[in-house]
Amino acid sequence: MAELSARPPKVLIVGAGPTGLTLALVLARAGISVRIIEKQSARSDKSRALGVHAGSLELFDALLGDSVSKAMIAAGHVAHEITLGFEGGKTAVASLDRVPSRYNFVLILAQSETERFLEEELLRRGVAVERRKEFAGLEEFSEAVRVELRDDGGKTESVRADFVVGCDGSHSGVRESLGLTFTGVQYPGAFMLADLTLEWPWNYEGVRTFVTRKGASAFFPFKEKGRYRMVVVPREGSAFTTASEPTLADFQRWVDEVLRQPIKLRDPTWITGFRIHRRIANSCGRHRVFLAGDAAHIHSPVGGQGMNIGIHDAVNLGRRIADVLRERAPMTTLEGYERERRPVAEWVSRITGFVLRTATRPESPLTGLVVRFVLPFFANLRFLQGILARAISEVGPARREIARLRRE
Ligand SMILES: Cc1cc2nc3c(=O)[nH]c(=O)nc-3n(C[C@H](O)[C@H](O)[C@H](O)COP(=O)(O)OP(=O)(O)OC[C@H]3O[C@@H](n4cnc5c(N)ncnc54)[C@H](O)[C@@H]3O)c2cc1C
Repeated sequence: MAELSARPPKVLIVGAGPTGLTLALVLARAGISVRIIEKQSARSDKSRALGVHAGSLELFDALLGDSVSKAMIAAGHVAHEITLGFEGGKTAVASLDRVPSRYNFVLILAQSETERFLEEELLRRGVAVERRKEFAGLEEFSEAVRVELRDDGGKTESVRADFVVGCDGSHSGVRESLGLTFTGVQYPGAFMLADLTLEWPWNYEGVRTFVTRKGASAFFPFKEKGRYRMVVVPREGSAFTTASEPTLADFQRWVDEVLRQPIKLRDPTWITGFRIHRRIANSCGRHRVFLAGDAAHIHSPVGGQGMNIGIHDAVNLGRRIADVLRERAPMTTLEGYERERRPVAEWVSRITGFVLRTATRPESPLTGLVVRFVLPFFANLRFLQGILARAISEVGPARREIARLRRE
């Protein structure tokens, strides 16, 4: 028989990734009692999402003051430009200076570090992540939700909460409990990433990408000079197929045979092969149980949007739940979450999917022309660079959210 929790929270958050931690901060800031559970015993040491965009930093400032952003910026690498190198030698340099924010750059910081800063801030506000606790099921009532938790010793606990939010990632158990679907596609092809040291003839400041007829690759600088995340995206059916468990030699072969650039790779700390899915839940939740972040939508990592839109979801939903619990808004305000956030997830999914499909389409007689002439032409158009930089930064949606937070 499950033990009944002695501390009924107003909101129970399942999952302490960036989405769950941000949501807990929004609620704690509003004075709402919250519990956040996490099945892992410790934070992952894998870097995963690297790009923190201006919109997310502005949201953190509005919620927490600027101390968290400052600490994140000090720990990460500030990249002001993206250099695109094309087969044939043409280049384009896209400056992020036109992002209309004091954060007119992309902050490169390992996701594990972003999570550490958020978790530490949450602890300062009196909420500790409860680790080794797993969501095991829920039952909905008109006034509350009862959730079953299980610790890693098998002991169960029954928690009553006014609201439950599944921030439990792409394999979400909360989504499953609601009977929601998560339909979409897996993109063909396997991709590779590695965190490693490289030696090359260029500077170590910005993000650098290379586009060739065999596929594309990108290099994202970490704070430590010479340390980079390298990502390889081969075209479907290209002679260079990525290994599912790649080694450093596979990356070096790509550099030597496809990029044909004087780049030496060494000292990898993380190498993995991965596949990319695009999926969206048929609903972001209902009544007293909601989904946010990867639990609700996943898509191609092009543009580094995944973690950032989860952070935006959390702020939007957290503000609404806090308003309902403080009796400043009716329950119907929660319907606005799906209405506002779902189109964003769908749009990001479509655009990033289009870019990925274009980059990975099998090589054709036209590919050479496109990568040597068409793409460099468009990539050098300043107005197009500005539009893309603004879209990726997500400053517009963040400012709308901040205006609402200020009206509190
Ligand atoms: C290899 C890789 C590279 C990536 N690179 C990028 C990138 O460059 N840019 C980008 O924007 N995105 C990237 N992503 C995606 C990014 O990591 C996700 O979008 C982001 O982590 C979503 O955050 P989240 O908090 O919604 O979910 P998650 O980070 O998945 O967090 C969910 C949490 O819930 C916990 N959990 C799950 N089930 C339960 C349960 N039953 N009970 C309790 N806890 C549970 C999990 O342990 C986890 O800690 C990458 C992902 C991977 C795997």
